[in-house]
Amino acid sequence: PFKENTVVVVFGASGDLATKKIFPALFGLFREKYLSKTTKIYGFARTQMSNEEFKGRIKGFFQTPTEESKKLVDQFLELCFYHSGQYDQAEGYEELTKSIEKFEAERGVKEPHRLFYLALPPGVFVPVAERVKKYCHPGDKGIARLVVEKPFGRDLNTAKLLQSKLAPLWKEDELFRIDHYLGKEMVKNLIPLRFANSFLSACWDSRYITSIQISFKEPFGTEGRGGYFDNIGIIRDVMQNHLLQVLTLLTMERPVSGEAESIRDEKVHLLKAVKPLNKDDVLVGQYTKSEDGKKPGYLDDKTVKPGSKCITYAAITLEICNERWEGVPIILRAGKALNEGKVDIRVQFKETKNGIFKHVARNELVIRVQPDEAMYMKMNTKIPGVSHSTTTTDLDLTYSSRYKKFYIPQAYESLIRDVLNDDHSSFVRDDELEISWSLFTPLLEYLEGPEGPTPVPYAYGSRGPSLLDDFMVENGYVFQDDSGYQWPVTTPQ
Ligand code: NAP
Ligand code: NAP
Repeated sequence: PFKENTVVVVFGASGDLATKKIFPALFGLFREKYLSKTTKIYGFARTQMSNEEFKGRIKGFFQTPTEESKKLVDQFLELCFYHSGQYDQAEGYEELTKSIEKFEAERGVKEPHRLFYLALPPGVFVPVAERVKKYCHPGDKGIARLVVEKPFGRDLNTAKLLQSKLAPLWKEDELFRIDHYLGKEMVKNLIPLRFANSFLSACWDSRYITSIQISFKEPFGTEGRGGYFDNIGIIRDVMQNHLLQVLTLLTMERPVSGEAESIRDEKVHLLKAVKPLNKDDVLVGQYTKSEDGKKPGYLDDKTVKPGSKCITYAAITLEICNERWEGVPIILRAGKALNEGKVDIRVQFKETKNGIFKHVARNELVIRVQPDEAMYMKMNTKIPGVSHSTTTTDLDLTYSSRYKKFYIPQAYESLIRDVLNDDHSSFVRDDELEISWSLFTPLLEYLEGPEGPTPVPYAYGSRGPSLLDDFMVENGYVFQDDSGYQWPVTTPQ
C-alpha cells in the first residue's frame, strides 16, 4: 500500500537511533530503489535546527558504496524536511499536518499513506502516540502506521499498561513493534531454512538434537554510559526480546501459510509451550577489570550505582514442553565485555549409534547471525588420503564468498521495507509480547529481589563466568575440542 506519495515522519529525529539507523536505512531503501522519489520524509523533534543542519547531521551516516550511490545522497535529502515542535503540545503536530496535507493536495493524493516512527525514549511514547492519532492520522480517508521501538515495558505489568494505553488509539494492524533482530538476514532466513529443506525437517526434534544455544556476545562494556543499562540489565536488553524472538523462529511448527498472522500464531503457540523458567537453570555474572588491568570493571563505571548487582552476563536454559522438543535444553546466553563480538545459533546433534565408529564428534549446525553471515554444518568425513580415520570438517556457506554481488540490507532497512509493504510477519504481536514478559518477569523478580544471587565475577575480555563450561555440559552441549576440527584447515590432520 505504501507506494507513491507516502509520508514518513520520524519523531525523535535529533536522536541517536534516528540519526544512525533510521535515516541511513531510509537512504539505503532509496538507493536500492525500494523507496519512491515521490516520498516525503519529515524529521520531528524539539531541538531547534535548520533543514540544512539536520541534513548535514544525518548524511554522515549514509552508506554509499559506489560513485553512483554518492550522487543519490542529494536527491534523497531533497525529500527530507526537519520540523521542530514540542511533544506535549498540539501546535507542532498541527503545523506538521498542515504541511503534510499541502504536500498531498499538490500531488492529488486521494488516500493518504502516512507512516509515523517513534524513535523516542519510552517516557514519551504514549503522549506522542496520542497526539499523532489526534492531529496527524488521516482517519477513514487513508491509512496510518505507527512504528514503536523497544523497550515495550520492563516487566509484565508495565508492558500491559503500555499496551492498554496504545490499544484504544492504534489498532493492532496499525502498529509495528520493531525488534531489529527480526530484520537480520540470517534471522529472516530461518523460516526458509527450516521449511524448505526436507533433510532438516526430518531431524529437527528431540530424537536427533541434543542441545540448542543462541548466543549474543559483545566485546565491550558500558564504557562510562552504564546509567541506562544499570536499570535494565542484559536479560531485558537482549534476551526477553531479541534472543527469544530468534528462538521462536528456530523452534516453532510450520505455519499454515506464509501470511504474517500464520507465522505469528505459530510463534505464540511455541511460546505458550515454554516451561516457566527455573531459577536453578540460570547463571548470572558481572564483569570485572580485564586480566591485564587495562579495561575497567562494570562497577568502575561512574554512571552505575555503587555496589550494583546488575547482570552483565546471563545464561538461561529453557525447555519447550511439546512433542517435538521435550527434553532438549535450549540455552540463551548473552554477555557484555567478552572475548569477542558475535551472535550465533548452535544446534548440536546426538552422536551416531551405529557401532562402527567410536569417538566421532557430534554434528553441529552453526548459523552465524553476525558478524559476517555464515552457516556451517560440522560433519565427519574420512581424512583425505590413505588414512581410514575420520575427522570433523564442515559444509560451509559463507555469505561473503558465496554471494559476492548481493547486497545484504541493514536490519532496519529490511524492516522499514516490511512496514512500507504492510507486512507484519517480522514484528512482535501484542499477545507474543505479553507471553514473553510472563516468562521472564518471575525470573527477573527473583534475580533482582532480596533472595537473588550475587552475579559471578568474570574478567573483561574473557569468555564469561568460569562456571559457564560446567553449565553448558550440564545442559547438553559438548565442546568438541578433540574432534580434529579446524577452520580454516592449516595443517594436515
Ligand atoms: P535518544 O537519543 O535518547 O532520544 C531520541 C530523541 O528524543 C532525542 O534526540 C530527544 O530529542 C528526545 N528526547 C530525549 N529525552 C527526552 C525526554 N526525556 N523527553 C522528551 N524527549 C526526549 O534515544 P535513541 O537512542 O535515539 O533511542 C530512541 C528509542 O529507540 C528508545 O526507546 C530506545 O530505547 C530505542 N532503541 C534505540 C537503539 C539505538 O541504537 N540507539 C536501539 C534499539 C532501540 P529532542 O530533545 O530534540 O526532542
Ligand atoms: P568456537 O568458537 O570454537 O565455539 C564453539 C562453542 O564452544 C561455543 O559455544 C563456545 O562458547 C564453546 N567453547 C569455546 N571454547 C571453549 C572452551 N575452551 N571450553 C568449552 N567451551 C568452549 O566455534 P566453532 O564453530 O568450532 O568455530 C571455530 C572457529 O572457526 C571460529 O572462529 C569460527 O568463526 C570459525 N569458522 C568460521 C566459518 C565461516 O566463517 N564460514 C566456518 C566455520 C568455522 P563461547 O562462545 O562461550 O566461547
